[in-house]
Amino acid sequence: MTFRVRIAPSPTGNLHIGTARTAVFNWLFARHHNGKFILRIEDTDTERSRAEYTDNILEGLRWLGLNWDEGPFFQTQRLDMYKQGVQSLLDKGLAYRCYTTSEELEALREAQKARNEAPRYDNRHRNLTPEQEAEFKAEGRSFVIRFKIDDSREIVWKDLVRGEMNWRGSDLGGDMVIARATEDGIGQPLYNFAVVVDDMDMQITHVIRGEDHIANTAKQILLYEAFSAKVPEFAHTPLILNMEGRKLSKRDGVTSISDFQKMGFTPEGLVNYMTLLGWSPPDSTQEIFTLEEAAKNFDFERVNKAGAKFDWAKLDWINSQYIHSMPVDKLTDMLIPFWEEAGYKFTETKERAWIEQLVALIQPGISRLTESKDIVKMFSTETVKFSSEAKEQLEKEGVKSALQGVVAALDNQQISEINANNAKDIVKQVVKEQNVKKGLLMRSLRAALTGEMNGPDLIESWVLLNHISLDKLRLLHAIDAPILSQANPQ
Ligand code: GLU
Repeated sequence: MTFRVRIAPSPTGNLHIGTARTAVFNWLFARHHNGKFILRIEDTDTERSRAEYTDNILEGLRWLGLNWDEGPFFQTQRLDMYKQGVQSLLDKGLAYRCYTTSEELEALREAQKARNEAPRYDNRHRNLTPEQEAEFKAEGRSFVIRFKIDDSREIVWKDLVRGEMNWRGSDLGGDMVIARATEDGIGQPLYNFAVVVDDMDMQITHVIRGEDHIANTAKQILLYEAFSAKVPEFAHTPLILNMEGRKLSKRDGVTSISDFQKMGFTPEGLVNYMTLLGWSPPDSTQEIFTLEEAAKNFDFERVNKAGAKFDWAKLDWINSQYIHSMPVDKLTDMLIPFWEEAGYKFTETKERAWIEQLVALIQPGISRLTESKDIVKMFSTETVKFSSEAKEQLEKEGVKSALQGVVAALDNQQISEINANNAKDIVKQVVKEQNVKKGLLMRSLRAALTGEMNGPDLIESWVLLNHISLDKLRLLHAIDAPILSQANPQ
């Protein structure tokens, strides 16, 4: 038998990290078993669904490398099938029209609340006579279609993550609404109903989704039975929690995959981390692997029941591993859009080889692509803005004369281009001539050339700055800002 699984996002928002992680587990399971991974867009909520969210979801899944085999299918294009399904349950006497008004439902809820009872529909229209129905219609009431739920039913399934699950019909809130009505009959289907019709039609063998759907599963099993269909297997994956153990929310600064993308995570790093959110490989010390490698080992035995804590430090570490080992050419392509967005347009002024040298210099020191922006800033303008630490450094005793010594050495030796050798020679010479400590000179050079006290290798940075006149300008600027206004950068 070919295993068939699906991810079924609702396009009422951008692709959420929770949905994406569920997609990862579906993908891994499908690939492990050589099965099919199907994409279905659950867009029946026409008020909240938007085309741009659908685009964001498809782009996000593609970006993460979660390719699907069938779809995207759109529920709004399948309404006839749901109507037929509702009609067949009406015909079998398993569903009925309910005319209870929202005011009546509200009164019912109030009364239940006053008695300290959980809210539930009391099935009052389950057995209406044709006369009663006619009367409600004559009153102009609209209706919904409800599916009968037997309170005494026991619903049991063996969850692939959580083991045996037990629910009673009485836990499900009374007969459930499966569709709304339109003027001329059956209208919009509700989530639980449309999902079951689709999962039957798409021959889904395993429903893998978040544990917030457990109560829905109990209801959906009853619908499969009503259609005399085979009930699929279920796997309810753990929630993603913040470090305090609460459900991850917008307040934690994370929502959608496109946000993570903007924050500078690589798709490979992010998807690798998501794989570990609730699953561990058989060799639990292994933390870096591709989706394909994870798929080889994936099974639900190793998926935790407990919520998975979202650990930013670990995500950063994993992301850094991908950045550090990436070919420079590929990393360059990934970084340029971030720089351009920040206004650094190297591609217009510098050769690709120079840009790649810069990327190679930056590569070992960053764990997010965005962090490179702070570093490239110092390579993108003729003068630098000094951080307060850099200013402090430049004020230290002996610093200005040491830097003047560097400028003089550059002039005297008529160096047209700095390279690692002449840079080191100049440092040596100034240390000797000025009798300053090498550490002080290096820190001061860094402050003067980059405006910061930390950054990539100083000599390499200096070489990359390349234009002697530019370097000199920076040095002069560091020594005495007014000189700058008289200096000619070329
Ligand atoms: N549209 C539902 C959601 O986004 C799908 C749940 C399911 O997988 O059945 O939560």
